[in-house]
Amino acid sequence: MSERRPDSGPDEGDASSPRRGNSTSAVHGGERESRECNSITVPIHQTSTYAFRDSDEVRAYQEGRSARDEYGRYGNPTWRAVERKLAELEGGDDAVLFASGMCAATTTFFAMLPQGSHMVVTSDCYRRTRQFIRQYLTKLGVEATVIEPADTQKLAEAIRPDTKLFFTECPTNPYLRVIDVAEAARVCHARGVKMIIDSTFASPVNHRALGDGADLVIHSATKYLGGHNDLLAGAAVGPAPIIGALREAVGVLGGVLDAHAAWLLLRGMKTLGLRMERHNANGLRVAKWLEAHPKVRRVWFPGLASHPDHAVAARTMRGFGGVVTFELEADFDATCRFLDGVRIPYIGPSLGGVESLIEMPATMSYWDLSRDERYALGITDSLVRLSLGVEDGDDLVADLEQALAAV
Ligand SMILES: *Cc1c(COP(=O)(O)O)cnc(C)c1O
Repeated sequence: MSERRPDSGPDEGDASSPRRGNSTSAVHGGERESRECNSITVPIHQTSTYAFRDSDEVRAYQEGRSARDEYGRYGNPTWRAVERKLAELEGGDDAVLFASGMCAATTTFFAMLPQGSHMVVTSDCYRRTRQFIRQYLTKLGVEATVIEPADTQKLAEAIRPDTKLFFTECPTNPYLRVIDVAEAARVCHARGVKMIIDSTFASPVNHRALGDGADLVIHSATKYLGGHNDLLAGAAVGPAPIIGALREAVGVLGGVLDAHAAWLLLRGMKTLGLRMERHNANGLRVAKWLEAHPKVRRVWFPGLASHPDHAVAARTMRGFGGVVTFELEADFDATCRFLDGVRIPYIGPSLGGVESLIEMPATMSYWDLSRDERYALGITDSLVRLSLGVEDGDDLVADLEQALAAV
């Protein structure tokens, strides 16, 4: 397998030109330079392999004299357009796609953690990521220390001589804790630890963690990047040497994205700037409205002054996203009735798409835990996670109002 990838990397980004706005990058990033047959859009390269004209061309490729693709697990021109667009949006050298967000995380951990090393993760973290660490990384002798999010003092205490990585979401799920990435990066880098931020909940529009000192950003592109609840994909963005290593790793581990899904992702990303404006507006509006409602006990949304990380979020984020977590003044059954009463959001897991989605973590991602175990994690019977889509704010508020009236 070859690490060479045609026209990937910084050459397309034109580092000398001033940074473009998010919407311009979302529409044009990674695409304008590579139009085929004068087509405005990048085609779906639906191919598993690539033909060589003759043996000379094979040798030219192997010797690095010819930039082209060899086999579908190592490269695809449709992926590459997405990777360039995402690299431009996040302000990274390069990016690499994966079959899912989980695949981005697992491949990254496999590639970056030596046998018997140590990592630090935060407690409020995607459950499957924690399961992967517990069930699979322990087989490599990797140990993990779990700390409270947003606590850089605890982070400094958790770092050991064999610590290689600090991994956290920002914002986290479901409490939307926001880490001071620049401060955490200083703590990590002083001790030779690399910091990986899962930026799924922020999207590059709301926060660019690489600019604040993160060594790598990963995404579940299933969420805001894809934005239409119609595909699964993952991505990592960062400096060329790390992305090169991850590209090599995914070529071996095999969790590559289908070309058609890559094309849907590319199409979805074009409206990222526009969509995030609406997600941010709906999030803030609904969070404020819920906080003032007598049947709502508590709201977690980083745009509210009541959120523990509001000051950090206001300083580091351009918007607070469309996910609002709240607790009702209600028991389990009444919370179910509230969910059953809403007419616009669908009941379902996931977030970041144009359709609003609503769920009770107690009956969704935490179903397998006992009530006591759930409560220990703060996942109460009346906790609701709402991912606001891009519908009209007036309609969303009216819908929640009528559903709350039935509680
Ligand atoms: C959804 C999600 C993942 C997993 O991504 P998939 O695309 O579903 O594999 C990882 N991290 C966060 C924060 C997520 O929301």
